[in-house]
Amino acid sequence: MTATPHATPLPNTAVTQQRTLVTALPGPRSRELMDRKASAVAGGVGTTMSVFAARAEGGIVVDVDGNHLIDLGSGIAVTTVGASAPRVVAAVQAQVEAFTHTCFMVTPYEVYVAVAETLNRLTPGEHDKRTVLFNSGAEAIENAVKIARAHTRRDAVVVFDHAYHGRTNLTMAMTAKNMPYKHGFGPFAPEVYRAPLSYPYRDHTTLDGPEAAVRAIDHIEKQVGATNLAAVVIEPIQGEGGFIVPAPGFLPALAEWCRANGVVFVADEVQTGFARTGDLFACDHEGVVPDLIVTAKGIAGGLPLSAVTGRAEIMDAPHVGGLGGTYGGNPLACAAALAAIETIEAEGLLERARNIERLMKDRLHLLQADDDRIGDVRGRGAMIAIELVQAGTSEPDPELARALARAAHQQGVIVLTCGTYGNVLRFLPPLTISEALLVDGLDVLAKALKGDVMTVHQHTASSGSG
Ligand SMILES: *Cc1c(COP(=O)(O)O)cnc(C)c1O
Repeated sequence: MTATPHATPLPNTAVTQQRTLVTALPGPRSRELMDRKASAVAGGVGTTMSVFAARAEGGIVVDVDGNHLIDLGSGIAVTTVGASAPRVVAAVQAQVEAFTHTCFMVTPYEVYVAVAETLNRLTPGEHDKRTVLFNSGAEAIENAVKIARAHTRRDAVVVFDHAYHGRTNLTMAMTAKNMPYKHGFGPFAPEVYRAPLSYPYRDHTTLDGPEAAVRAIDHIEKQVGATNLAAVVIEPIQGEGGFIVPAPGFLPALAEWCRANGVVFVADEVQTGFARTGDLFACDHEGVVPDLIVTAKGIAGGLPLSAVTGRAEIMDAPHVGGLGGTYGGNPLACAAALAAIETIEAEGLLERARNIERLMKDRLHLLQADDDRIGDVRGRGAMIAIELVQAGTSEPDPELARALARAAHQQGVIVLTCGTYGNVLRFLPPLTISEALLVDGLDVLAKALKGDVMTVHQHTASSGSG
C-alpha cells in the first residue's frame, strides 16, 4: 500500500517578505491541484482562494507556482506570531523527536501541565484556576457548556445574535448564521437561546453598552429565566459574525448579572485571544473576568490546540473521566503553545497589535472619508474590519465585499470576508508582519475601491470559513 506521491517541500531558505506575482492567480500548478481537489476532496469544503500553499513565513504565503502573497488572514487568526515562527518550529522539532503521542489520559506528560499552568496564570482574574485541553475551538466550547451544566445542574445556554461558536452539533445550535454553517444539518441541540447583542453600527436607537445589556438581560429573564440558565456564552468581539465590538459597558454588565444569578459567564476568545486585539485577551480591555475562558486559534502558532480555563470550583465539577479525548493536549501542540506564548512576550507583540490598529484605522478612515460605501471601520488591535454598504445608506452590500476580496486575491493579497450579511471585509494580519507589507496590502485594497473592482474575472468562491 502506497500513498499518492506529492511534491516535496521547498528547500529551507528564508522567504522574502515581499509581494511578488510570477503568474496570474491562480497559476497553472494551483489550477491543476484545484482539479485534483475537486475529484478527491468533499465538495462541502470551500476555499477562499484557488491558490495552493507551498510554504509560509512571517507575513508571506508562497504558492505552488512561486507567487508571494501577503497574508492578511493568518489562516483565520491562527498564525498570530507569524507563519513558521522560529520558536514554534524549534519547539515542535524537539518534541517530535522525543515523542508525538502517548495520550494524556493514559500516560500524562509535563508539557500539558505547563500549558495549563501558563493559561491559569495569563488568563483574566487572580482566582484559583484549572485548565483542560482539546483540539478545536468547537470542541472546547462544547466542553465549556458541559462543565457549566455539571457545575450549575441547569440546562439552558444563552448565546447572541451574529454569534459563531463552531460547526459541531451543539455549536451549530449556538452559531447564529444559517448559510453556510447550519443549512440542512439539523436537528440542533436543544436548550440554546439567542439574545440581542450590542451592535453599535446597527443599533439605530443609540443604545449605549449598559442599555444594550439591560435589553439582553430582560430578554433572558423573560424568555429563559435565570434559574434555568447554566451559561451565557459570548465572543468579546465577534469573529465570523462581523468583527462586531459591543459598546463599552455591555460585557461588564452581562458578567455582573451572571455573577449575581449563579450563571457561568463564558468568554469565547477562540478568535480574539493571544494578543490579537492588543491585549493578551479581549476581556482584559474592560477588566472583565469571565468564569470560563475558551481559547484556540492563536494559541499554538498553527498547531491544533484549544483550552477551557476557569474557576477551579467550576472546572472541577465534572466527575473523573467526564472530560477528555484521544488527542486533547497533543504534546506537539503543547510545545508549540509554550513557544507561541514566549514569542508574544519576547517580541512585544501586544504593542505590535496596537501599532497595527493605528496604522490600519488611520488608512481605512481616510478611505472612508472619501467613500460612503464604507459604512463602518471597527475592531481592535490586529482584528480590524470594514462594513460595506450601499452608498450613503446602511444597506449591506455583500457583492461589493466579495468583489473587493476577489480583486485583492487576484493581486496577491489574502483577505477574508465575514458578517451575517456577508458584507464585512476583515483583516487579521500576523502580528509580526512588516509595516511595508501591511501598507502594500492596504494600497491594493484602496486601488480596488477606486474602481478596478469591476474588471475582475477570477472565480474564487468565498466560503464560510470558521
Ligand atoms: C473559529 C471559532 C470557533 C470554532 O473553532 P474551530 O477550531 O474552527 O472549531 C469558535 N468560536 C469562535 C469565536 C471562532 O472564531
